[in-house]
Amino acid sequence: MALFGELQDELDERAAKGLLRSRRTVSGPQSTRLVVDGKPYLSFCSNDYLGFANHPQLIKALQQGADEFGVGAGAAHLVNGHFSSHEQLERELAEFVGKPAALLYSTGYMANLGVVQALTGRGDTVFADKLNHASLNDAMLLSRAEVKRYRHNDMAQLASLLEKTTSGRKLICTDAVFSMDGDYAPLPELLALCEAHDAWLLVDDAHGFGVTGELGRGSLFRNPLPAPLLQRGEQEGGERKGDLDSPRIIYMATLGKAAGVFGAFVAAESVVINYLINQSRSYIYTTATPPALSVALLASLKLIREGDARRARLQSLIVQLKQGLVGLPWALMESDTAIQPLLVGENQAALDLSLALRERGLWVAAIRPPTVPEGTARLRITLSAAHTSAEVAQLVEALHELAQEL
Ligand SMILES: *Cc1c(COP(=O)(O)O)cnc(C)c1O
Repeated sequence: MALFGELQDELDERAAKGLLRSRRTVSGPQSTRLVVDGKPYLSFCSNDYLGFANHPQLIKALQQGADEFGVGAGAAHLVNGHFSSHEQLERELAEFVGKPAALLYSTGYMANLGVVQALTGRGDTVFADKLNHASLNDAMLLSRAEVKRYRHNDMAQLASLLEKTTSGRKLICTDAVFSMDGDYAPLPELLALCEAHDAWLLVDDAHGFGVTGELGRGSLFRNPLPAPLLQRGEQEGGERKGDLDSPRIIYMATLGKAAGVFGAFVAAESVVINYLINQSRSYIYTTATPPALSVALLASLKLIREGDARRARLQSLIVQLKQGLVGLPWALMESDTAIQPLLVGENQAALDLSLALRERGLWVAAIRPPTVPEGTARLRITLSAAHTSAEVAQLVEALHELAQEL
């Protein structure tokens, strides 16, 4: 039984370090009011930033989608699993994010694997921010390209790594909004480096799509522009392009966070999309998502476009939280997004704080290594447009009380 003993020993070691992971079971829909293991909680840890996961119009759209398309795609996209709802959703997503074409993937994890693996291989180099999402890290390993990681948002170090790389294809990968820190990547500077070094830029906008930029179009629509890029964007005219518009940008966003449903897409030049259709293994060798989900996502896209009031409400809750949490022994990290991590430090201290909140009916997940660097365990507080100002006040008050007690 040595095989099993080894596994148990490792789990025991993790537990001793305050690193054991376990799950809680939710009943009923995703919501700011959540029933977990039979008890009601006010929750601050979903990525359902706009409160769409349980939106009546999306539930109805999914039901209608199931009536029209059934429940399963039954095959991969390249066999006979590519349905008219997938096709329409890809067209609308591409248009919405200002790119010529888009491709649906089953998940963001698979999209990242699929893009990096298709575009790079042995002899190529992938440059990656050290705080990128795990799926981008796994994607680099799978690609077999050489990997060069730069310190978080450190453009000088990235520039120097690029200068030293003289052969092969170059791909820079970055989260647009960092998933565990909530801060933004400097996309204009990253794009400028890509132009200077003839590199691709893969932008993972899992936490920006739907939430940031004009009409929720995402992170390519929120950046103040360096003048040369601005002029070029204006010349092109026609349909709405991103503020940050370059054929080098390969844009990836997920559809299970702000969009409230499930899935992911990549938007890019048509030649890139055609290449992915032919070369991206996590696109080719998997069953297509149920076409009914695309029907729900078309409805979600409409709600995102009409969602300025929700985004404004989310912004005001973010301001309220940041102002409310000044003066605690734990500091909020530098972030203007719905991700507001409260830095605790030690693993056990983060777990204890999370548990103490839970005892007060507040659910905020503790995030520990290896998801975040050693010594930076934190409570990852996320806000949603579905929260009320009174609910945010309740969290603020509980944290101040716990700061006194602990
Ligand atoms: C959630 C997330 C992903 C993965 O997306 P899924 O659709 O959940 O697989 C990728 N990148 C980032 C930055 C994420 O936060």
